[in-house]
Amino acid sequence: MQPVTPSNPLIGQRVTVLDKGWVELQDLMGSDLAIVNAARVSFMGESKGPDKDKKLLFYLLRHRHTSPFEQVEFKFRICAPVVTWWQWVRHRTWSFNAQSGRYVAFEENDFHIPETWRKQSPSNKQASLGELDPIQAAVLTEDLVDHYQKGYVLYEKALKMGVAREQARIFLPGFAVYYTWVCKVDAHNLMHFLALRMDSEAQFEIRVYANAIYNHFFKPALPWTSEAFEQFVLKTDTTSVEL
Ligand SMILES: Cc1cc2nc3c(=O)[nH]c(=O)nc-3n(C[C@H](O)[C@H](O)[C@H](O)COP(=O)(O)OP(=O)(O)OC[C@H]3O[C@@H](n4cnc5c(N)ncnc54)[C@H](O)[C@@H]3O)c2cc1C
Repeated sequence: MQPVTPSNPLIGQRVTVLDKGWVELQDLMGSDLAIVNAARVSFMGESKGPDKDKKLLFYLLRHRHTSPFEQVEFKFRICAPVVTWWQWVRHRTWSFNAQSGRYVAFEENDFHIPETWRKQSPSNKQASLGELDPIQAAVLTEDLVDHYQKGYVLYEKALKMGVAREQARIFLPGFAVYYTWVCKVDAHNLMHFLALRMDSEAQFEIRVYANAIYNHFFKPALPWTSEAFEQFVLKTDTTSVEL
């Protein structure tokens, strides 16, 4: 019998991302050992000590024997702008429940204000390259705040006139509104997400969330898996694999 793992101290921790966003680990089931033991159930075996267990885990990832990694599950609460949410929900292997702008009115400071303004990449249509100079950037940020305030005044006006929250929200700057959701995913599909969204090709506003999940939660929760992931999936090894 596998002993019951005591509650992980990572559970309940929250990391700040962007200006007002965050990632919180709500729950975690499993560990590196759970992955190894799941693989060994094929022949009804369990741990054979750290060296052999780690070697087996590396073998599994390297040879894309991925189902044992599905035995570990992460549940997060995320607060991020809609631009991030929009890209995140394309990952069909996650389970989501989100805040509803039909039930709860948005608040005046629920909008993302970027720290820098990235310039359009001349060679890649969906990428940015470099930043606006600080003087131009400061002017644009002032314009943005002004734009948010005007939109919010109209939103409040519509609510006061009795317009439903579900319709009044069309006055809000859609991509910039901060949204909160809970989501659950297993370690195999989380690695697939991280490989795509930690990549330099991914948009900054989702990359920072992927990096926060990896560095603050995935890596400390699954140290052997992270080591194998960096070696075989993030292509630091010539025998890299795709998840
Ligand atoms: C840099 C970048 C740019 C992007 N640009 C665009 C864009 O311009 N336009 C756009 O629409 N999207 C874009 N996307 C989104 C992208 O096309 C995927 O929808 C998203 O990354 C989710 O990937 P996924 O389907 O592999 O992940 P998941 O949905 O999590 O699925 C994981 C894996 O499960 C399998 N799977 C899941 N569902 C199915 C299914 N129904 N049938 C078969 N296999 C399935 C696949 O093997 C898949 O890789 C972009 C993504 C990135 C990272």
